[in-house]
Amino acid sequence: MKFSASNIIGLVHKYNVPGPRYTSYPTALQLTDSFDQGLIEENCSERRTEPRQISLYFHIPFCFSLCWYCGCTKIITTNQDRGDIYLGYLEKEMLLLKETLHPESDVHQIHFGGGTPTFLSPEQLRKLGELIRSTFTIHQDAEFSVEIDPRRVGDDHIIALKEIGCNRASLGVQDTNEEVQQAIHRIQPFGLTKNVAELLRKHGISHINVDLIYGLPKQTIASFKKSIDDVLSMDPDRFAIYSYAHIPSVMPSQKLLNESDLPSTEEKLSLLVFAVNYLTRAGYTYIGMDHFAKEGDELSIALREGTLHRNFQGYSTRAELEMIGLGMSSISQNEDLYTQNEKNLSSYYELLDSGKLPVKKVLRLSNEDKIRKKVIMEIMCRGEINYDSFLNETGLIFHDKFHDELERLKEPESDGLLHLMNNGFRITSTGRLFLRNIAMVFDDYLTQKHHKSAYSKTV
Ligand code: SF4
Repeated sequence: MKFSASNIIGLVHKYNVPGPRYTSYPTALQLTDSFDQGLIEENCSERRTEPRQISLYFHIPFCFSLCWYCGCTKIITTNQDRGDIYLGYLEKEMLLLKETLHPESDVHQIHFGGGTPTFLSPEQLRKLGELIRSTFTIHQDAEFSVEIDPRRVGDDHIIALKEIGCNRASLGVQDTNEEVQQAIHRIQPFGLTKNVAELLRKHGISHINVDLIYGLPKQTIASFKKSIDDVLSMDPDRFAIYSYAHIPSVMPSQKLLNESDLPSTEEKLSLLVFAVNYLTRAGYTYIGMDHFAKEGDELSIALREGTLHRNFQGYSTRAELEMIGLGMSSISQNEDLYTQNEKNLSSYYELLDSGKLPVKKVLRLSNEDKIRKKVIMEIMCRGEINYDSFLNETGLIFHDKFHDELERLKEPESDGLLHLMNNGFRITSTGRLFLRNIAMVFDDYLTQKHHKSAYSKTV
């Protein structure tokens, strides 16, 4: 696959509109805080009836300093005692959650995200690990991944992470260029990042992911090439190259960035096209949207075998796991229900003090949601729809169900983003850069225009 930026730039103005990233459908914006508490009880009773395979996400919201581009739910503080208090509440939440699980349920994935999980001291990380192991049954082959801020991690952190079972680390890099780092208020010399990767491997955490961001202030193709070369020298298994989402109306800290330093839409797309071409030449598979993986990596294999899956944490190989999020703002999802915890720390603590699961928002998926979810996730993960498979799985004739949507796909087809065929449609290489736009055709909620302002642009 080789993209030409000049061919694609012409499409940018037409397709660069606000839209979801589709880590889920319906998106998190559709969760509502006016719900019947009975829904939560029903969900818990249902979960208790049979053993489930679980994926646990722990949100650690604290960060030592603010990165101006940040769109995460975080709390800036240098007071590490807050970590102890937070762990006390995570323990309460785990115990409440345990009561909702069948005793034979076991955990197949654990992920610490944030914020900055390594805000926690090595002792606090050990304590969290012990709490998890004493509360849940962990499968012996469980994947245990942690997001790491290389600016705040040393040997002791890594030894503690290894002791509690961590076997994959995601290093937040964003960009290795000093001018870009100054512009985003995140100074992180590359030598330091590389040293952390070496320490991780030395201590036996051998699966390494790296996160970069394109579309940041002061980035150029030349500077970004150097950043990618730097990271390639660390030989990561996976790259996430996220699009910088500039929505200062939703993320006020982004107002601190100098907007005149941001690349234009064309420049931003050129950065992505460059990264896709450069990394695929370097032997990485373009998984989709913003993810790349080595050819032998599980994600690349899942893409080839058609078993790739997408959830609130991005691309995944484990569709069968029930995702349960713990900590403030975390999202849980199963086939029928999405729930989100309180985003406000004191309210999160208050709910747990009153002995309740700290759920603030809920969405129960309708049948219509489930059908559209199937289509949108096939687009995001497989890049194609087969009408016979759709009929087998849903009992519905695609042409009848999505007559209007198919009409609306004719324009992207004429722009070379997909091929409409008798038995389905397939996204082209160019179309893979505009997956969100194609998925949006099937999104029932986008007609509610007031929601659009909360989304980043698709390029
Ligand atoms: S980018 Fe990461 S480290 Fe920086 S403020 Fe956001 S969550 Fe914290």
